[in-house]
Amino acid sequence: MSRVHNFSAGPAALPIDVLDRIREDIPDWQGTGMSVMEISHRGKNFVELARRCEANLRRLLSIPANYSVLWVQGGATMQMAVAPLNLASPGDTADFVQTGSWGKKAADEARKFCDVNIVADSSDKEFTYIPDESSWRRSDNAAFLHITSNETISGVEFHFVPRSDVPLVADMSSTILSRPIDVSRYGVIYAGAQKNIGPAGITLVIVRDDLLEPVRENLPHLMMWKSFAESDSMTNTPPTFAWYVADLVIQHLLNMGGLAAMAETNQRKASKLYATIDGSDFYSNPITKDCRSWMNVPFVLADASIDAKFLEESLAAGLTNLKGHRSVGGMRASLYNAVPEESVDALIAFMAEFERTHG
Ligand SMILES: *Cc1c(COP(=O)(O)O)cnc(C)c1O
Repeated sequence: MSRVHNFSAGPAALPIDVLDRIREDIPDWQGTGMSVMEISHRGKNFVELARRCEANLRRLLSIPANYSVLWVQGGATMQMAVAPLNLASPGDTADFVQTGSWGKKAADEARKFCDVNIVADSSDKEFTYIPDESSWRRSDNAAFLHITSNETISGVEFHFVPRSDVPLVADMSSTILSRPIDVSRYGVIYAGAQKNIGPAGITLVIVRDDLLEPVRENLPHLMMWKSFAESDSMTNTPPTFAWYVADLVIQHLLNMGGLAAMAETNQRKASKLYATIDGSDFYSNPITKDCRSWMNVPFVLADASIDAKFLEESLAAGLTNLKGHRSVGGMRASLYNAVPEESVDALIAFMAEFERTHG
């Protein structure tokens, strides 16, 4: 078996221990003589999995008792509609901080359902910074304030929690579980699983209980957080296999020492890569230093005409998925939890060698 160094932005690398466990489990899960994909989600074994998974996640993220943990479908993208539908009536205003293309997408989606006020926007400098909080133009009576905690494409991350008198709603798709967070500062946290939690197809939503009651009537069941809270996320058939893998990833993270340990490793991985980029005239990263992402590190070559060569030679060296997003160009290395530090070291060594031979 040969595994590559996988810097995919998502769906992203999974821990090898988890992959090995899945392979062992598949034909005969927990002595049932069936795989986890072939049993009822309402049967004893799966209900136990769901309970354990929630208890472990609560422990991992220190989720306070007055928050509900929901597992839904439709990805983070669906939550960009679900949040305004549950929190804002038509005519209400929701505040959005636009620090990248995901935040812009969230604001554009919300505009279909309520008024949107862009409190801050960094598109004037190609989403390379977070406007100072003191300059944000907040509404008087917003239904909620939305941020994208980590902009996966440009690599801009909030290293602080904004103050907010209204519920703070955060898209944490590409940063959740990378470090400890203070859940009590947020009203709603949502995250597609395929970056740091598990496979695509399942989405985590953490909602403060007083926000569960939707402000509108007649929402579809699958777009009501309350419905998921009341059914233990079994409003309809959940994506059982994805949930099973998420459960294994969460157990794995607890075994690794939890999120404080992940944060230490993640910060070290990102710092050494940024140091390599900053220490050379051959590579560069345009993001303001205080908001550089730990998870997604975009960089460009001084000479873009050898981008293809960089990708070709890095692939030959076993480094995959380094092509930058088409809107930014250049390269992007995603360093999620499951990307081992050795992979970052291999990338840094390759970059030095590439610079030596092509610089
Ligand atoms: C990947 C990503 C999304 C999209 O998630 P889907 O699960 O594909 O809907 C949204 N926001 C951020 C920050 C992301 O990284």
